Amino acid sequence: MAIRHRMEGAARAVGRDPCEVELVAVSKTHGAAAVLSALAAGQRLFGENRVQEAKAKFAGLRESWPDLRLHLIGPLQTNKVEDAVALFDVIETVDRPKLAMALGKALVRLGRQPNLLVEVNIGREPQKAGVRPEDLADFLRLCREEAGLEIAGLMCIPPVAEDPVPHFQALAGLARAQGLTRLSMGMSQDFVAAIAAGATEIRVGSAIFGERKLGREEQALRTSL
Ligand SMILES: *Cc1c(COP(=O)(O)O)cnc(C)c1O
Repeated sequence: MAIRHRMEGAARAVGRDPCEVELVAVSKTHGAAAVLSALAAGQRLFGENRVQEAKAKFAGLRESWPDLRLHLIGPLQTNKVEDAVALFDVIETVDRPKLAMALGKALVRLGRQPNLLVEVNIGREPQKAGVRPEDLADFLRLCREEAGLEIAGLMCIPPVAEDPVPHFQALAGLARAQGLTRLSMGMSQDFVAAIAAGATEIRVGSAIFGERKLGREEQALRTSL
């Protein structure tokens, strides 16, 4: 896959081991056929932004592909927490106390331990989900001490119209300061820069599966720009 080649080049260019960076293939809005062809090409790690869509697409694939892994990269409502914990291996969008508490209970109830990342609103955008950088330390404390969650790292989506590099570097700095090792950052347009800044996973959709029809949020985002 051409993406893997570019990932390896980006890692080597900054003296990183290419094995440190995982490729999450973002299959949201694309059907099962697209997922199957990626599986056939060797891809095992997928990202989806809606719980119901992911369940419909992936629930039946696990049996044939036991090493398939699934990341939730979109907002999680508290009423979908149990479904999400049952389905996903990594939940990247832990972003508020109510959700953290609900996750803590669901993990105990279902006896599962998905990896958890905190989404940071790195550009401090009013309309965007995520914990503000200045609130991160308190939120992590709440996750650990009150919700009983182990947080593995941070995730961000930089502001669309800005240079992402300072935002990637800021997220890497926050993770370092908090002793967190996993960094989910970089998408189709900017994953090379994200790898240079320390990403341990990149989330790539359109560069793998082609352009999406605009989803609801993207439509709203574009009309608000
Ligand atoms: C859709 C999406 C991506 C992938 O975006 P592309 O530009 O298609 O690579 C990555 N991260 C999140 C959170 C997304 O919602």
